[in-house]
Amino acid sequence: MLEPEVETRLWDEQFSVDNASYRAQVAYLFDRSAFYREKLAAAGFSSHRAVGGLGDVGQLPLTDKHELRETCTPDNPIGAHLCARLSEIVRIYSTSGTTGTPSYVPLTAGDLDNWVTASARSYAASGVVAGQRIVSTYNAGPFVAGAALGAFERIGLCHIPVGTGNTERLMRAVELLRPEAVVLTPSYAAYLVEWAAERNVDLRGSSVERVLVAGEPGGGESTFRAKLEAGWDARVTEAMGIGDVGVSLWGECEEQDGMHLGARGFVHAEVIEPESSVVVEAGDGATGELVLTHLQHRAAPLLRFRTGDHVTVRTTPCRCGRTGPRIRCIGRTDDMLIVRGVNVFPSAIREVVGAFAPDISGHILVKPQAPGVKQSPPLPVSVELARGATADDRLAEAIRDQLREILLVQTRVDLVPWGSLPRSEYKSKLVGY
Ligand SMILES: [Zn+2]
Repeated sequence: MLEPEVETRLWDEQFSVDNASYRAQVAYLFDRSAFYREKLAAAGFSSHRAVGGLGDVGQLPLTDKHELRETCTPDNPIGAHLCARLSEIVRIYSTSGTTGTPSYVPLTAGDLDNWVTASARSYAASGVVAGQRIVSTYNAGPFVAGAALGAFERIGLCHIPVGTGNTERLMRAVELLRPEAVVLTPSYAAYLVEWAAERNVDLRGSSVERVLVAGEPGGGESTFRAKLEAGWDARVTEAMGIGDVGVSLWGECEEQDGMHLGARGFVHAEVIEPESSVVVEAGDGATGELVLTHLQHRAAPLLRFRTGDHVTVRTTPCRCGRTGPRIRCIGRTDDMLIVRGVNVFPSAIREVVGAFAPDISGHILVKPQAPGVKQSPPLPVSVELARGATADDRLAEAIRDQLREILLVQTRVDLVPWGSLPRSEYKSKLVGY
């Protein structure tokens, strides 16, 4: 454990620490944030005293990304939630917006240090320790993932960056520099298993003992994870962050039962029901959209920020000794489809289909027939067969029945030949038209 004092702190104790930080954070926002002064006043909160403590945070309005973006002007391209003077900002990241216009994420020196600390706790939870070597495949560039790279030095690892999109270079680094760990997206980790099999490269015999995955959901799906672990002969754990709030906020420990909050003390987490915005009691098994509040941020702190990540919460004690709540990300709210009133995540479909290995390859593509979220049944799903396997009506039927049984969704399963669905060296698209 990187910081046992923080990571094993009892819930009640953590709550009182966070409550004090939160009150100071809200006072800071009233003092410095044009965006929150206005937003909170409109919701009936005229001062930080009116807002109260962390126990009442659920009464405050939610913040979403579009709202922040709308306040950007030529004079203030970051947005009205910018609180610090530009002279206090030491780094500005961009998030890769789907609209083409980036959102900027500014950080003060203290913010950046807290990001690295949280990220280091999250990655250290996987079991990597000082003195080991880790190969990373992130193209840090303008994106917040760059801040996670600082975590590896903080842990005391020897960091070997090789970047994305050059598999030969990656595999040569693994072969020659013999790292104990690699960090990549789950899609890329899966791609490498196939890449190695096609070239008779002995991935299982490599020095890699731990595969750390992040950047998209998948690393926590049991069948997908089992496939990665078998292909690499290594333990797979996942980490997750959210660009506007922090990088690698969550990291999974060796128990592999969800990601602990590595950003303890820096961020407060809630779960809401996405359509109604009602707070879900964060007990064991709670499911909903993750909402995050900064507790000691300076450059552009956010209150109740909607992450768009749909998660399940675990609160049972973890054998690793960390007391932080754990989450498993089921998918992005944006990817969710509603089929005759039933919420369906493409990643959940992949998980169910994955249980049919070795008959199938594990690659799927959901093909909605209408634009938008609402779909009429049956929902078409292409399922790729294993190498050499041929389509079999009984298999398609069994997959369809299992999807109906577990996810309550009616599908039409089309079995497609090996190699016909797209592979990714970065993030997979599970939905296509
Ligand atoms: Zn644990």
